[in-house]
Amino acid sequence: MAAVATFELTDAVRGVAQRGRDRGLCPECLGRLVGRWGHGLSNSDRAARLLGSSGGPPSPTDDPCPLCGGAFARLPLWVDRCLRAAEGLEWHRFTCGSRWDPERLAREEALWSETGTEWGESVRSAFNRELGKAVEARTGALGGPERPDVVFLADLPVGRVDVTVMPLYVAGRYRKLDRTLPQTRWPCRRCGGRGCDTCGGTGKTYPTSVEELVGAPFVRATGAEGTRFHGMGREDIDARMLGGGRPFVLELVRPRSRSLDLPALAAQLEVEAAGRVEVRELGPASGEDVVRVKEAAPEKSYRVGVLGTVDRAKVNEALRLATARAIAQRTPRRVAHRRSDRVRDRRIVAARLVDGAEGRFTLDIRAEAGTYIKEWVEGDEGRTEPSLASLVGTPLKVEYLDVLEIHDREE
Ligand SMILES: [Zn+2]
Ligand SMILES: [Zn+2]
Repeated sequence: MAAVATFELTDAVRGVAQRGRDRGLCPECLGRLVGRWGHGLSNSDRAARLLGSSGGPPSPTDDPCPLCGGAFARLPLWVDRCLRAAEGLEWHRFTCGSRWDPERLAREEALWSETGTEWGESVRSAFNRELGKAVEARTGALGGPERPDVVFLADLPVGRVDVTVMPLYVAGRYRKLDRTLPQTRWPCRRCGGRGCDTCGGTGKTYPTSVEELVGAPFVRATGAEGTRFHGMGREDIDARMLGGGRPFVLELVRPRSRSLDLPALAAQLEVEAAGRVEVRELGPASGEDVVRVKEAAPEKSYRVGVLGTVDRAKVNEALRLATARAIAQRTPRRVAHRRSDRVRDRRIVAARLVDGAEGRFTLDIRAEAGTYIKEWVEGDEGRTEPSLASLVGTPLKVEYLDVLEIHDREE
C-alpha cells in the first residue's frame, strides 16, 4: 500500500508497539494502540508491519488479549449472533453497538497512559466498527448511524446480541366522514384497556378509531406489534374532517417486514374504511416527520351549524367585530383534564355567514391554530371572551362542526 511509505516508523511508534506486544495484545488491539500510524492499513496489517520491524510476531499464547478478551478474534461468532437475533426480520440498514465490562475499558485507558501512546482508539468503538463491517460483508446490508431498521447491541460480558427493531413510518392525509370516530384508540377509562363490564371486554371506549381503521392493513402487511398515530392536531369525535384531509404519520411498532406496497394498501383501505375514513397521499416517512407533524400549527377552516334566533345583519356585525381583534380563550372545561388551565390569545382570521333560516344559521370560520371553535360560538360560560354569543347578545348552540381544511401547505 503506497500510503504507508510516507509514514515514518519512528522510535516513539516502535516503543509503543514493543510495550503493547509485551503485554500480549492481539494484532487488532496492538495495531489500534498506534492507530494513526500507517493510515489506510487495517489494525492487524498495521500490527504485522510493526512487528516485522521490531523483532518478530508476539509469542503465541493461550491467554486471550487483555484488552478485548479475544472479541476481535471471535468476530464471525458475533456476526452469527447478530443474524440469529434478527431472524425473521426484514432489515436493510443497521447500527452496531456493544456493552463492555467497565473494568476492561478502564484497563485500556490505563494502558494508554502506561505506553505513552498518542494514537489510542477505544476498544468499544473499534469493535462496533469492525462488527459493522463484518455484518455488511456477510449480508450486503448497510451499516451506519443513519435511520437503521435494526440496532444490534453486542453484550460482551454476557455473550449475547440483543436487537432493537426500529419503527416503520408512513405519512398521509385522512378525511373522516363519520361523526362517531375518535382519531386514536381510546382506552376504557374504567379498566385502562384490560377489559371490563363497562367496555364489554374490549378495553376501549369506542369500538374503533381512525388509527385502527388506517393501521389495520399495515399491521397485517408488516406483522407489527402495534401502532402509534400522530396527527397534525385532532378534530372532535363528532366533527368530520373534510377538504384535503389532515396530515398524519402512522408509526408501526416492531414491524417484521418493511417493504410496503402502498397502492395495494391504499386499495385495501378504500374497501375496509369505506364511508368512514378516506386516506390519500400515502408515502414513506421517518421519525423527523413525526416531529414536523406534531410541531406544525396551521390555520384551520371550519363549517359550523349554529342554533339560535338572530337576524342576519346582527350576525354579520358580530363576525366583523370578532375578526377585528384577538379573543381571550380560557382552557375549555371539557379539555381541562389534559391541558393546563390558562387564558390564551387566539384570532378568528376570517368569518362568513353562509346561510340562515328560522332558528339556525351556518358559518364558515378560519381560525388560528389552537382556537376552540365550539367554545368561541357558545362562550363556555364566559371563559371565551368575546364569544359570538356575547357579541350577538343571544345564547347560541353549536349543532354540528366540520373541519373544512387544514392550511398547512400555505405560507
Ligand atoms: Zn485484543
Ligand atoms: Zn373497560
